[in-house]
Amino acid sequence: MSTPSLLILPGDGIGPEVMAEVRKVIDWFGAKRGASFDVSEDLVGGAAYDAHGTPLHDDTMAHAQEVDAVLLGAVGGPKYDDLDFSVKPERGLLRLRKEMDLFANLRPAQCFDALADFSSLKKDIVAGLDVVIVRELTSGVYFGEPRGIFEEGNERVGINTQRYTESEIDRIARAAFELARKRGNKVCSMEKANVMESGILWREVTQRIHDADYADVELSHMYADNGAMQLVRAPKQFDVILTDNLFGDILSDCAAMLTGSLGMLPSASLGAPMANGRPRALYEPVHGSAPDIAGQGKANPIACILSFAMALRYSFDMGEDATRVETAVEKVLADGMRTSDLLGAEGGKASSTTEMGDAIIAALDASL
Ligand code: NAD
Repeated sequence: MSTPSLLILPGDGIGPEVMAEVRKVIDWFGAKRGASFDVSEDLVGGAAYDAHGTPLHDDTMAHAQEVDAVLLGAVGGPKYDDLDFSVKPERGLLRLRKEMDLFANLRPAQCFDALADFSSLKKDIVAGLDVVIVRELTSGVYFGEPRGIFEEGNERVGINTQRYTESEIDRIARAAFELARKRGNKVCSMEKANVMESGILWREVTQRIHDADYADVELSHMYADNGAMQLVRAPKQFDVILTDNLFGDILSDCAAMLTGSLGMLPSASLGAPMANGRPRALYEPVHGSAPDIAGQGKANPIACILSFAMALRYSFDMGEDATRVETAVEKVLADGMRTSDLLGAEGGKASSTTEMGDAIIAALDASL
């Protein structure tokens, strides 16, 4: 099999800083595990606008369609705030997601024991938490027609339409079941079938796909409002949560905050399989370009490093190596290492971005 290819798009602000630490991890795999990647690097966001007058050059877009996985840092920053909407840095990211047809957004919420005190919930409720939200990303109420603000009699009416086809539900449900098989083998599907027809169809199709092709996976259904409550009450009951675009937007932010800092949260957006069987894939930290700390060596590189771990697991079938990276992160945190975002009220000495990256490499070395 040919060397797996990876396109790196560091972007703006802290993007290049955290990506430099990911490069160390990628190089480590080549040197110490004999797992090399064909890595290319390009511009996105404000950096691409500065160079080409567009937040994503057509050549970069074409290359993103050819590689096995794309890893992105972050885009945006105050320098670009006044640009026309059509060339804003975020448009580069949106174009990637749209043209690669990345319909499945995976957001893990994993609580490392050493950071359990960071959560707004009690330690015993979140310690050891490991759930993934699978959110449908390209349809639903954010895209459905009709939409707009219309005149109706002597007042205006704002309209958005929740719309899901069977095939859209089918493909996202399959993504969730496939993911569950690589994890705890449990899917909880969340909608509001009690009050929404799209929810009734969602539930029917999900159950049908399950019974036909994934009967080995445990499936349950829950109303999304109850799901929000359960996420805060007892989040460890969940393994994979499957949900639509709108509920997923809200539930994934809720789940993210169970774990503490933005600097810790990775994500993956997956599309249909390519000719080689790998899904089209974009991996990126949840955080933005953090202009308030950019260029100061303060950024936490863990979210981006964990995004690469997701690439190992979901694009390259290297689940054991993904776990190796996650365990190295866990060890470094257990040893007390903290970037400034992880210091909390009691303070202490903050490690720099590069010190955190180097410590993770040392922990990877120790894992051999
Ligand atoms: P942000 O995520 O960049 O920052 C929010 C806060 O979290 C800041 O105080 C920041 O210092 C901190 N933070 C974020 N990541 C961190 C890390 N890795 N280590 C330590 N601290 C970290 O969100 P924002 O301030 O709302 O947005 C800043 C810019 O980023 C804007 O231009 C916005 O449009 C853009 N943005 C981009 C993305 C993306 O590229 N996917 C996502 C969100 C925001």
